[in-house]
Amino acid sequence: MDFVTLQARLRPGSIAVNDVTHCRTWSYTEFDNTINRLVSWCQVNGLKQGDRVACLSKNRAELVALHLACARAGLLFVPLNWRLAKEELEALISDCTPAILIGDETAAAMQFNYYDINQLLSDSQSLSAAEPDYDEHTPSLILYTSGTTGKPKGIMHSEATLMETTLNMTQLGHVNEHSVFLCETPMFHVIGLVSCVRPALYCGGSLVISDAFEPGRTLSRLADESLRISHYFCVPQMANMLRQHDQFDVSNLKNLKALLTGGAPHPEVQIRAWLNDGIPIVDGYGMSEAGTVFGMPFDVQLLDENAGCVGLATPRVRVRLTDEHGKEVAEGEAGEVEIKGGNLFVGIWQQEAMYKQCFTAEGWFKTGDMAVCNQAGFYRIVDRKKDMFISGGENVYPVEVEGVVLKHPAVKDCALIGVPDERWGEVGHLFVVPFNERDFADEEQFLAGLNDHLARYKVPKYVTLTDAIPRNGAGKILRTVLREQVVHLLA
Ligand code: ATP
Ligand code: MG
Repeated sequence: MDFVTLQARLRPGSIAVNDVTHCRTWSYTEFDNTINRLVSWCQVNGLKQGDRVACLSKNRAELVALHLACARAGLLFVPLNWRLAKEELEALISDCTPAILIGDETAAAMQFNYYDINQLLSDSQSLSAAEPDYDEHTPSLILYTSGTTGKPKGIMHSEATLMETTLNMTQLGHVNEHSVFLCETPMFHVIGLVSCVRPALYCGGSLVISDAFEPGRTLSRLADESLRISHYFCVPQMANMLRQHDQFDVSNLKNLKALLTGGAPHPEVQIRAWLNDGIPIVDGYGMSEAGTVFGMPFDVQLLDENAGCVGLATPRVRVRLTDEHGKEVAEGEAGEVEIKGGNLFVGIWQQEAMYKQCFTAEGWFKTGDMAVCNQAGFYRIVDRKKDMFISGGENVYPVEVEGVVLKHPAVKDCALIGVPDERWGEVGHLFVVPFNERDFADEEQFLAGLNDHLARYKVPKYVTLTDAIPRNGAGKILRTVLREQVVHLLA
């Protein structure tokens, strides 16, 4: 029996889902029945095992119900990123060739040929619930990656692999039947659809769904005594936007039992600021391919002793760090994170060869991320292997430099890339968004100040002031865009 059905037996009348955008709630019994009626609906509409059901919709309860119905019916659910341009979406649709595209107003605005998600529940209302028939190892989800380093890849998961992340998040966030998760992170991404949705429903807690992140509104929701939100999971960028908002007042966050962050580097200064305010913050590292891999426990002493780390390896995930020859590195040295475990994806849609290339001959998944492990077993993410550059023979990891630059009181945001240099091979080119441009009248002084905190080879050679750092929907820096900007600057 799946976890929603189980909870429907355990606590039939408890609120499973509260869609605050559409002002509607579902008890566990109602939600379980809704899912099974959608299984019938899929069958009535001729969908067969292995068919793809694509969904282009902002966060809403029907999207979650459809996702869980697909798992029960042996179908592959494909949530699409509505932030993409029509052409980019068309490329994903022709990649996964769905039997049906279900969409909301965003699909309408882009003039797709789609089935209206608003119709789903009324059209399935008169159907009797189908008996689910599923195998936990059958692929049930295709999640396209963020496309930070290239074209998005269709990462395939089964209920069994998703359950590993569900259990890990439950443990890391101390989730239980009293927990209330606010999910605003988009459900086309692993954080929204897996890390928020699943622990809440798995434990019999409540899932509050909102279709967009607006910092002021989020702060009001977190303060709302009638909602009593206990868990909020967002990317570091979003967490920082909450802190910088005029309405931010830590005394309104009393109900929050865990502020979970992950998906992109979270600068240490920002984590510290939450901790100093007494907010239990749980930072973690994960990816579409593997769900949660590392997570920081709730423990101020451990947090202090392992500042800058993203935590310990989650249970049943085996990790090793390797050099460019595939040999394990010594303790304290940076190496590529390689993992084995039941959490790993089961394929890349239509890319069997690419899937195979992701693994070593011994079956370790190569994440493409570099990390260091300390004596206590805590990992610190250094950077993506692809973003590292070499200056005078020394490796420079942009994330490390950015973390230091962000400590400067005049810096609002920044990003570093490596650019070619005759003398050093490559040097750093820093983009800075200042709080106030006047503070940067003396660029040389600013760079000289960095010398106190960074080895000489890590100190950027060039600085460009800019209004905004290009980031994707997950808040990740789009370094390819910055590289193009540098080419323009030189032209
Ligand atoms: P693509 O694979 O298409 O280039 P992507 O890797 O950004 O995109 P996701 O699967 O959404 O797609 O993101 C996973 C990546 O995000 C990780 O491989 C890692 O580089 C980065 N990441 C996740 N969590 C953290 C973290 N806590 N600290 C630093 N980086 C992180
Ligand atoms: Mg990736």
